[in-house]
Amino acid sequence: MPELPEVETVRAGLARHLTGRAVERVEILDPRPLRRQRGGPDAFVRRLTGRTFTAAVRRGKFLWLPLDDGDALVAHLGMSGQLLVHGTATGRNSSAAAGADAQDARAFLGDPGAPRVDLTATRAPQPAGDPDAHPRHLRVRLHLRPIAGDAPGGAALDLVDQRMFGGLRITAMVPTADGAPGGAGSPAPLIPVDVTHIARDLLDPHLDRPAAVAKMRRSNRAVKTLLMDQGIVSGVGNIYADEGLWAARVHGLRPGKALGPRVTARLLDATGEVMERALAAGGTSFDALYVDADGAAGFFARSLAVYGRAGQECRRCGTLLRAETIGGRSHVFCPRCQTRPRLPRER
Ligand SMILES: [Zn+2]
Repeated sequence: MPELPEVETVRAGLARHLTGRAVERVEILDPRPLRRQRGGPDAFVRRLTGRTFTAAVRRGKFLWLPLDDGDALVAHLGMSGQLLVHGTATGRNSSAAAGADAQDARAFLGDPGAPRVDLTATRAPQPAGDPDAHPRHLRVRLHLRPIAGDAPGGAALDLVDQRMFGGLRITAMVPTADGAPGGAGSPAPLIPVDVTHIARDLLDPHLDRPAAVAKMRRSNRAVKTLLMDQGIVSGVGNIYADEGLWAARVHGLRPGKALGPRVTARLLDATGEVMERALAAGGTSFDALYVDADGAAGFFARSLAVYGRAGQECRRCGTLLRAETIGGRSHVFCPRCQTRPRLPRER
């Protein structure tokens, strides 16, 4: 499952390629990814055709593209969803654009003959085959109104999903409860109506940190479970929870109530810092892909301290890392750096 850094990479790509672009035609090859659309596929087509994307916004792992009529296209990538942009003029003659745009240059954007870019959340942007062919598992294609510089075959955004857990829907936007921007990528204090229950994420400057710390410390649940609760802070999944817990030297089984306020704040800070480093690494070190147990490839994998490393040495103290199960998910930790709480059956 992609977590915040991976989804942010996708968001930045969508913002560069789609902001200001209009949808000319919606092609539905398989209606199943639209199952959460109110009114069904017909409503999806009607509400999206002719609309212009005004931004690409993310809160935690949730991604949306605001439209010029006040609605938003909400994209849920699930386990295997990919958003492929192809044929767009963006990236041509963009020598002024540095950093992230350099990825696009490497992905042959604007290079006639190979203009599709794979914005899969768990990989770096990369070229993805014949742009005119329908890829296997293509579900929905949004044809963009042509502009100068587009590839001759036209520009489009594709939703490709092998396992069908992802989806698209058009929803209304509502004002945020705190009046601050809805997420990263737009200053507008708006959020899709069905995303309002999602808390702000650890990289959001408007996150109420003291409130998040207080929520965690009120709970008897395991701190790893709390860290992954999208209603407390969003964007953290199994990978970055384990990394943050190791960085803060906290065992994931400790109940929220057992942690002091400073330790809890340190855990949130440490988890945010790991995600920031993962984001920074996304631009430079995405070769030699690593595939984890969930089938997800990560380009930050070589920098991970604990996730996927059970049985190997702790990078801090050399003790062999161990794994156990918390809430159905594997938790990898260092038994020396992260003291395991005593459980009743051990007494
Ligand atoms: Zn250690």
